[in-house]
Amino acid sequence: MDRRHFSRLSVLGATGAWLGDPSRPGHSSRPSDAREWFAPPRQALAVDGRRLGERMRTLATFGANADGGIDRLAFSDANIEALDWIAGLLGNAGFTTKTDVAGNLIARKAGSEAGRRAIMFGSHIDSVPGGGNYDGQVGSMGAVEVAATLADAGHTTRHPLEVAFFTNEEGGKTGSRALAGEVEAFELDLETASGYTIGVGLRRLGGDPDRLMEARREAGSLAGFLELHVEQGAVLDQDDVDIGIVEGIVGIMRWNVTVEGRTNHAGTTPMDRRADAMVGAAQFVSAVHRIASTMPGRQVATVGRLVAEPGVPNVIPGRVRMTLEIRDLSMDSIARVYEAIAAESDRLAAASGMVYTFDRFYVSGAAPTDLRIRDMIEEAASGLRLSASRMPSGAGHDAQSIALLCPVGMIFVPSVDGISHAPNERTELSDIENGSNVLLQTLLLLDARGLS
Ligand SMILES: [Zn+2]
Repeated sequence: MDRRHFSRLSVLGATGAWLGDPSRPGHSSRPSDAREWFAPPRQALAVDGRRLGERMRTLATFGANADGGIDRLAFSDANIEALDWIAGLLGNAGFTTKTDVAGNLIARKAGSEAGRRAIMFGSHIDSVPGGGNYDGQVGSMGAVEVAATLADAGHTTRHPLEVAFFTNEEGGKTGSRALAGEVEAFELDLETASGYTIGVGLRRLGGDPDRLMEARREAGSLAGFLELHVEQGAVLDQDDVDIGIVEGIVGIMRWNVTVEGRTNHAGTTPMDRRADAMVGAAQFVSAVHRIASTMPGRQVATVGRLVAEPGVPNVIPGRVRMTLEIRDLSMDSIARVYEAIAAESDRLAAASGMVYTFDRFYVSGAAPTDLRIRDMIEEAASGLRLSASRMPSGAGHDAQSIALLCPVGMIFVPSVDGISHAPNERTELSDIENGSNVLLQTLLLLDARGLS
């Protein structure tokens, strides 16, 4: 059955929405109390897909460009106006909204049980230059819709709720990293795509760069964090799967790699007397691709830049400088892939007499999601009759920063043809609705069960 058709049926016919009841939908034990025979059936709680669609379209007008995409750069007027609009929507849903010193819009509502830590959910509304209408936007409008659905149903969660719209995700995850106390002073002077520095931009949003440390939350001060996001890859779309259960945001390591050979005349040096660094580099690139493809696991490895010196047509290159990047959910497997690549370059060096050197210049730690929240997302999806599969996120997200503070979960929905950061980025409304319902049900499971 076509996934989208199936999804549509499942949303209309969802058995789910078990308002805070941790038992599975469809559970059919015989009621022990006779009064329960006459009790009305539990009201299915589901987002309003039409309202969600309308609000997606409205958000897309803030910063709309002539290509059908958006330029809603962090700190731009469009960014500020859209946040004001969203604050109004959440105010109407009974949330108290404020902008923290890092410019994050955070809407809060008390829970029914005193002393519980808040569950946070949300995403970002800033875009890259020439971006599309789904990256960040789906998770933001999904979060607004979940908040509104709970308000409409008069449902108060046990935990306080915080809906967060993080500052400058695309330009360095400033807002979410500020919550984790990770923003460094020099970053405030960096100019962003909007033309404003981050420091000036924070003031424009109503934040205060001089007091940025006050945005920081204590590790353990939140009960959990959930983010809905478009996949930005083609896996779900091609495999016809409704929901991606994100296992984590991959770690990244990058090296500068240099191959040293011998510069010489391209006409007078016989082929058997050459130490051609370009040939050494070509063998290296090919080895990287082969090793990353054949080792067990889902690692990816890339040589993204290559410069030959001296770089003229009639000279044998004496030196080639390249970059090597490896990504994986496990930093250990990144290390294993690197070891295999380094061992292979030792063999290449021994055979050719050339020298390969590696200089690591960038590390970004992997951020695994919480195993229990993954299971809750799976349970929520299956309760809604949606297909789901577990996958890593190859792109960075705000959830990665919040993972330093509390257990996190991420829900992916399909990106048509895997296109993202482009005006023709697209996700079907039915998928946005499905993802929002999974966010809602996961939130209710998390609220009912907690994680301890
Ligand atoms: Zn995003």
